[in-house]
Amino acid sequence: MPYRFADIILPVAVRGRFTYSIPDNLKGSIMPGTRVLVQLGNRKLYSGIVARLHNETHGLKNIRPVMELSERVPVVNEKQLKFWHWMAGYYMCSEGEVMNAALPSVLLPDGVTSSPVIDRYKPREERFIELARHFSDGELNDILDKLRKAPKQEQTLSAYLHLTGYNPGSEIVPVRRSLLLKESSTASGVIDALTDKGILSSVSLKVTRLNEPDTVQEPLRKLSENQQLAFKSIKSKFTLNEIVLLHGVTSSGKTEIYIHLIEEQLKLGKQVLYMLPEIALTTQIILRLRKHFGSVTGVYHSRFNEQEKAEIWNRVAVENTDTGYRLILGVRSSLFLPFSNLGLVIVDEEHDGSYKQHDPAPRYQGRDSAIMLAAIHEAKTILGSASPSIESYHNALNGKYGLETMKERFGKINLPSMIIANTREAYRKKQMVSHFTPELLHAVDDALGQNEQVILFQNRRGFSPYIECPECGWIPVCVQCAVNLTYHKGINKLVCHYCGYNTPVPSKCSSCGSTGLATRGFGTEKIEDEIKIVFPSAVTGRMDQDTTRNRNAFSKIIKAFEEHRIDILIGTQMISKGLDFENLTVVGILNADNMLNYPDFRAHERSFQLMEQVSGRAGRRNKQGKVIVQTSDPANKIIRLVVRHDYEGLFRLQAEERKVFNYPPFCRMIRITLKHKERASLNHYADILGGDLKTTFGKRVLGPEFPVISQIQLWYIKTLLLKIEKEKPLAKVKEMIQESIARLEKEKGAGALRIAIDVDPN
Ligand code: ADP
Ligand code: ZN
Ligand code: ZN
Repeated sequence: MPYRFADIILPVAVRGRFTYSIPDNLKGSIMPGTRVLVQLGNRKLYSGIVARLHNETHGLKNIRPVMELSERVPVVNEKQLKFWHWMAGYYMCSEGEVMNAALPSVLLPDGVTSSPVIDRYKPREERFIELARHFSDGELNDILDKLRKAPKQEQTLSAYLHLTGYNPGSEIVPVRRSLLLKESSTASGVIDALTDKGILSSVSLKVTRLNEPDTVQEPLRKLSENQQLAFKSIKSKFTLNEIVLLHGVTSSGKTEIYIHLIEEQLKLGKQVLYMLPEIALTTQIILRLRKHFGSVTGVYHSRFNEQEKAEIWNRVAVENTDTGYRLILGVRSSLFLPFSNLGLVIVDEEHDGSYKQHDPAPRYQGRDSAIMLAAIHEAKTILGSASPSIESYHNALNGKYGLETMKERFGKINLPSMIIANTREAYRKKQMVSHFTPELLHAVDDALGQNEQVILFQNRRGFSPYIECPECGWIPVCVQCAVNLTYHKGINKLVCHYCGYNTPVPSKCSSCGSTGLATRGFGTEKIEDEIKIVFPSAVTGRMDQDTTRNRNAFSKIIKAFEEHRIDILIGTQMISKGLDFENLTVVGILNADNMLNYPDFRAHERSFQLMEQVSGRAGRRNKQGKVIVQTSDPANKIIRLVVRHDYEGLFRLQAEERKVFNYPPFCRMIRITLKHKERASLNHYADILGGDLKTTFGKRVLGPEFPVISQIQLWYIKTLLLKIEKEKPLAKVKEMIQESIARLEKEKGAGALRIAIDVDPN
């Protein structure tokens, strides 16, 4: 008997699915994963996805019917529905919010609409020319003879035959009209004349919007002895564990091992997802992958437009065809692609904070979600890093994950030598040149002298983090956020890095009227300016959010550096990860202090990872690299560990601290953020929620308190943090939190409040 009801996911933040009845004419054709049109509330029509069919009314009355089935084929498969369901539950949001993050908008047109929606994904079509029908040898000769009088037409037909290698009996092959015009060096009218005569005909064909360079395929490289050992050992660990952590020093050849694992999966007919934390990294690795795996390799990230995203989506969905993708390289959002048959998920640089989505919901951790996705597909997961997250290493040591370690660089090149440059002492001795210590300048000078390249890392963009009146101490702040404005010299503006607000640089202090405003601190822009003064003949480049707004900017800068058109590249954390440059020997870390002093329990772990990562860019091919770390605190424990590349030391130190102060992985954290435009109201509601949660969870609740940045875009912010023991049943805890929030939402005036829940925040 066909089902009578459908539970539907709608793109709204309300938790739960919506039940509709299935009209008779749609019985049998509505299936889980299909897209339907329904009415919610008074007049609003929504596109939604069918999650489940059943015959239970749950006592509901007046169940509305589904209005329309948009297409007969499902848009998402059952594994995706499972994944969405898990994500909504785990990260405490609605399935509709997950769906919004997952589906390219052209596959799920806007929620609110008053007329039936149409499928807005249209593949691009282009004009092609082909032979009007099969011709025999004799016929073709006749035609060519007759065309003697029209040499242009003859030329065009010959060009077509040449391009397609046509011979009678073979298939008719269409050629792009534009290509034929170019090859025959004739005008459009000539082609038209031939089609009028019934010799050629014009067809319109779907073509890809994705511009994919053709690459020549190469066989895989042979693994070194060490790599071979690791490769075999990973595979044998997979027989015991679904998840293996590959802890390999920078340049140990992890990527090459992934490539060999991918090859095996593709041969088995499986799909592979290869995740990276940042778009910038995909540009280099994609070339490495396409070289071996050709056109089954696709890339996915947020820089594609919605049409392109839809096309990539479709190509993953049709995996076993000529145009299908079976290997996807992507950032965290690629988890949502319509995989049906994953065999392996690779999470490279698994420690990276960029895997976490902060806003909007779903606030998911890409690495952890990848593990879940793999589990749904019964696939294996490999987590790779030179400095794993404390959580993952903890899981590896306690046996939850398999652990594979590689301590040697490929080609037995030494890890870079680390030189600590004491900025405090250099300032005292008046040896600093601008923001550069003598050690740094010396190393850069050396490298440039030998025609080698340099990377300078500074984790702040802009020219200087703030400007200040030296007379009275006045600092310009954002009008909407509780943060100092950053000075950007190139555009001569003060910019808020939280909301984008910007304003011309004031000529005088608005507190005391003094005119000598001074810049304080430094960002990438200033470093570039000043290094140019010190090394006027070197070519510099800069890679940060400001220089990479343009869609192809990443690859342009990376290519310029690869081709040595840039000598010194200055950048933020974008340049710290995964990139592989042949001629790069010196890396300078300009200010280790501001990372270490960041007020967060992960600051030390992050600083270590960042420094280890960025130093890993140096000396990867032929020669040992050199890293200069500038700090005012050379005795700092973390700096000492970085100098020795001592990850185990870092882990012991961090694990000890986190146990003592009760942080993950020894507890779970859930953060609730409240926002309100009025400070007093925010305090009021935050206290209500805090009090309510404390009656249930007692001392596990911390706050409410104002975070470091207490106002963004005019919204005041307060947070509550829950630390829950690992042994406690998480689902129950979440339910109780939801109940508290539901009670708060019923308070008078609580409608003006914004509430966000973040599970496993970072
Ligand atoms: P990781 O991912 O650990 O940083 P990579 O896989 O990028 O390391 O390898 C580091 C360098 O060594 C790269 O330049 C890579 O091309 C080279 N390399 C690694 N393995 C091999 C191999 N088996 N044959 C040839 N070159 C290799
Ligand atoms: Zn702002
Ligand atoms: Zn002043």
